[in-house]
Amino acid sequence: MDRQTLDPWGTSLIKDYSRLQAEFGIEPVSPLLKRFKNPSHHLSRGIDFGHRDLGRILDAVDNNNRFAVMSGIKPTGEFHLGTKMTADDMVYFQSLSKKATVFYAIADVEAYCDNGLSFAETSKMAVKNVADILALGLDPDRAVVYLQSEEMRVMKLATIFSRGVTNNMLKAIYGERQVGLYWSALIQAGDILMPQLPDFGGPKPVLVPVGADQDPHIRLTRDLAAKYSGEFGFFAPSAIYHRLMLSLSGDTKMSKRTIESSFTLDDPPAAAAKKVLSAFTGGRATVEEQRRLGGRADICPVYDLYRFHFAEDDEHTERVYNECVKGIRMCGECKQEAAGLVKGFLARQQKKRDGLLGEARELIAKSRKAPSRR
Ligand code: SF4
Repeated sequence: MDRQTLDPWGTSLIKDYSRLQAEFGIEPVSPLLKRFKNPSHHLSRGIDFGHRDLGRILDAVDNNNRFAVMSGIKPTGEFHLGTKMTADDMVYFQSLSKKATVFYAIADVEAYCDNGLSFAETSKMAVKNVADILALGLDPDRAVVYLQSEEMRVMKLATIFSRGVTNNMLKAIYGERQVGLYWSALIQAGDILMPQLPDFGGPKPVLVPVGADQDPHIRLTRDLAAKYSGEFGFFAPSAIYHRLMLSLSGDTKMSKRTIESSFTLDDPPAAAAKKVLSAFTGGRATVEEQRRLGGRADICPVYDLYRFHFAEDDEHTERVYNECVKGIRMCGECKQEAAGLVKGFLARQQKKRDGLLGEARELIAKSRKAPSRR
């Protein structure tokens, strides 16, 4: 059996999450669920399915110790539903403890290396991206938001790490790629380990919430943390992985690269609702067949909209699923309901986000000054 490949820069879906766990040593989240007093909908609906060393973060929460939550966004476009998932996880884990600090990297170096966007272009997009995560609930008082290209501590770490890896090691993890992508992977390792530098209070547990296809970055960074632990005292970073959401065409992951079969948090609500109404579904060829055989929620991007983002609660998600697979729910009405939820959410999010643009600008500007010790 071929080993599954994970391409952190691609659009492929993951076919078999259990195999992924077995092949890459990712632990299942389910045994740890009882340790969460109020699990997020990502946890309770099995969207966050795997982890590495999540117990270390839960220990920090229980013992009121400091920890960091670190992730970022490539500022190549507006927030979409895939980036919202990571942002939702960051906001949730920040909310678990007053001792949690979020580090949010605006990955403009990766945007340049992977997408060829200039730093001037991406710095404009960064403001809207940061305003979006603020609107989703990020507490700015416990957040460090920065542009990769301007954060010298990240650059220095990446430079140090570049002496510790060979081309063959990177090729084994990522396959044959441009040097720029290898470099951006080392910079991401710098992002993930920066919260443990003395400027931020020294070594501490760090949780990285990411899509499962980003695991190569986590493996590389954990190797580097071990290699440089003598010099810096790094803890290996912990990670929590979410499932990848289907794009509206149902054949790729929801991503900025497939924007025609996706929508962003900036799309006019009515236009996004229209896209939902013309999405691929797991429905049958005829109403009669659907009543008899039931729909296929497991391959349906409309069901993913409910499950990953827009169902009011877990009971609503289960109801949609059960009604679908039992042939009680028809795709037309199901899409209408989902479109209404999407429309309402986008209108609220955009209003909130527009009111937070000034705060987003200030937060980015703050990172340009020397940070206080945390
Ligand atoms: S009823 Fe809803 S969830 Fe089921 S296949 Fe149709 S659109 Fe998808």
